[in-house]
Amino acid sequence: MILEAISKNFFLYLSNNKLLDRLAKRFGTSFGADKIVGGETFSQAIPLIKQLNHDGLQVTVDHLGEFVESEAESRKRCQEGIETIQAIAHHQLNSEMSLKLTSLGLDISKELVMENMERILEEAEKYDITVTIDMEDSSRCEPTLEIYKALKEKHANLGTVIQSYLYRSNDYVDELQAYDPYLRLVKGAYKESGKVAFVDKQEVDANLKRLIEKNLLNGHYTAVGSHDDAIIDFTKKLVKEHGISKDQFEFQMLYGMRNQTQSDLVKEGYTVRVYLPYGEDWYGYFMRRLAERPANIAFAVKGMFKK
Ligand SMILES: Cc1cc2nc3c(=O)[nH]c(=O)nc-3n(C[C@H](O)[C@H](O)[C@H](O)COP(=O)(O)OP(=O)(O)OC[C@H]3O[C@@H](n4cnc5c(N)ncnc54)[C@H](O)[C@@H]3O)c2cc1C
Repeated sequence: MILEAISKNFFLYLSNNKLLDRLAKRFGTSFGADKIVGGETFSQAIPLIKQLNHDGLQVTVDHLGEFVESEAESRKRCQEGIETIQAIAHHQLNSEMSLKLTSLGLDISKELVMENMERILEEAEKYDITVTIDMEDSSRCEPTLEIYKALKEKHANLGTVIQSYLYRSNDYVDELQAYDPYLRLVKGAYKESGKVAFVDKQEVDANLKRLIEKNLLNGHYTAVGSHDDAIIDFTKKLVKEHGISKDQFEFQMLYGMRNQTQSDLVKEGYTVRVYLPYGEDWYGYFMRRLAERPANIAFAVKGMFKK
């Protein structure tokens, strides 16, 4: 338990290390990250998405990279998002898109991020592609939800994420009910203080179950974003007990995690969506995944020695 906490903090610390980030960019994904990242460009990810679709899995793609520092950079990211949507449509991929508001200027200005999001959503609407706003650390949660609400008034094809580790997560789900939300419900991946988030894992798990139950029983589309059998089994039991149709929810898992479970769920007739990150900025994502599950280190270490 103590070892687990130390390694989690260690990898979360590494995930913010700028020097290692620069080195990682120079050496590419070959030291293990290619098992959980779809490539450094969207073109590299296309054959992978086709294979996943062929295996009955739906996809949501995420262009890695957060925290742009200038308006110009945020507009460039917006344009890349639009081009990704066009490529999804052009190649007839069964894929949605996930994105982080800090990559579109959340830390610069609300007007800028709204303008960038409007452009992306208008393009996505042309092809009936849903866009999900990932949730970042707790300091960005409320600004993100305000933007989600404002955009959702005009755009049906928009989802967001609620993290069950936050004490306020129940209130957030309640506040969103009026917006017919498409919610991905997850435990939460960032390092948060006990002032805002449950420290005890059992409380995080129990709260995730409460959020899933609330959103589903209120009749809103729910994406259960977890690799945890206890959460998956809870959801299956809940929908069975309440006669909730399989088109009201889906399971979502990260690319490269629990591949067997993903295909078993597909065989059982559930919708399973794989979150597939791609891009040059894979380093922070890779470290956060190692922090969550040190067992992932095994393939990273193997990857380092791979010829
Ligand atoms: C599609 C998707 C999108 C996400 N989006 C966000 C987001 O926007 N914001 C955010 O903060 N977080 C996000 N997350 C991350 C999430 O918050 C958790 O940090 C992450 O999913 C780990 O929690 P877990 O429920 O999967 O399982 P954990 O609580 O990490 O693990 C519980 C149990 O599940 C099993 N397990 C877990 N992982 C594996 C594995 N790889 N292989 C085998 N068994 C495993 C093990 O038995 C483990 O003990 C997302 C996760 C997913 C799946």
